Amino acid sequence: MFEIRQLVTPVTLDEAYQILIANRNNRLLGGCAFLKMGSKLINQGIDLNALKLNQITHEAGCLTLGATCTYGDLTNHPLLLDYAGGLIPRALQPIVGVQLRNAVEVGASVFSRYGFSDLIPALLAVDAEITLHHAGKMTLHSFLELPLTRDILVAVHLPDRSYRAACQSLRVTASDLPIVNCAVSFDIHEKTWRIAVGARPSRAKRALAAETLLNSISAANAGPMCLVTLLQAADLVASDLTFGSNQRASAAYRRAMAKVLVERALREVALC
Ligand SMILES: Cc1cc2nc3c(=O)[nH]c(=O)nc-3n(C[C@H](O)[C@H](O)[C@H](O)COP(=O)(O)OP(=O)(O)OC[C@H]3O[C@@H](n4cnc5c(N)ncnc54)[C@H](O)[C@@H]3O)c2cc1C
Repeated sequence: MFEIRQLVTPVTLDEAYQILIANRNNRLLGGCAFLKMGSKLINQGIDLNALKLNQITHEAGCLTLGATCTYGDLTNHPLLLDYAGGLIPRALQPIVGVQLRNAVEVGASVFSRYGFSDLIPALLAVDAEITLHHAGKMTLHSFLELPLTRDILVAVHLPDRSYRAACQSLRVTASDLPIVNCAVSFDIHEKTWRIAVGARPSRAKRALAAETLLNSISAANAGPMCLVTLLQAADLVASDLTFGSNQRASAAYRRAMAKVLVERALREVALC
């Protein structure tokens, strides 16, 4: 269990950021589910709840998810149930249970870039952007490539586009962390595909070679994608991305399962 010397409740983002960078033992508090698993001594625990970042809004061509929205908020919100065929609620559904999902927060989860995240592959598949208080707005794809710095994730933005999408994950038992997971989307107007694979076990990554194959064929043909191409794309995902071993699975098993999961997700998207 962690310990907090002092709890502070800033009323502006700038105040929160100044407290965060003032001492390396000051920590932002999300739902605290992950912090509770450690034994850190936190100097100042920064509660973001006075900042009203718990809103899900639809404006200026995107859906915006505030940093302190919980996974429970995302799972139940009508805008997200409609968005990309309910991709985000579907990706979050296998995570532990309702109680945990009602506590854990979007900002903490995305900023921490956990390799096992079920949310991040789904966000990558819809070209999500994020706003950091200090570093500003950027694509999630580029944020995942940057070194970690101290900042506050303020919001996640989902482009207001029409997607067909699917996600898959493999777990040893129902509430365990995923061995590997993936999300696939097809932008109905732009005719572009996205494939993201997570829990490799390192952080989620887009499968760019497979996306390029599908996008070049989709640009040349108006018709549905043929099964052979979908299988080729799933093969490319397995050969192009790197996989590692840990106590949950070996790299070879992850690679083999990633191919199966991506193939299932591609078939679902191609057929719906
Ligand atoms: C038992 C258990 C099982 C889990 N299983 C899964 C699973 O199967 N799949 C899955 O995807 N996830 C899983 N998770 C992770 C969970 O979904 C959350 O991602 C995780 O708990 C972090 O969210 P939190 O609100 O608890 O963050 P906290 O524990 O409060 O914080 C985590 C870190 O984020 C920092 N932080 C908080 N808010 C912000 C912010 N706005 N900006 C920047 N940094 C911030 C904190 O300082 C801290 O360093 C599991 C977690 C637990 C505890």
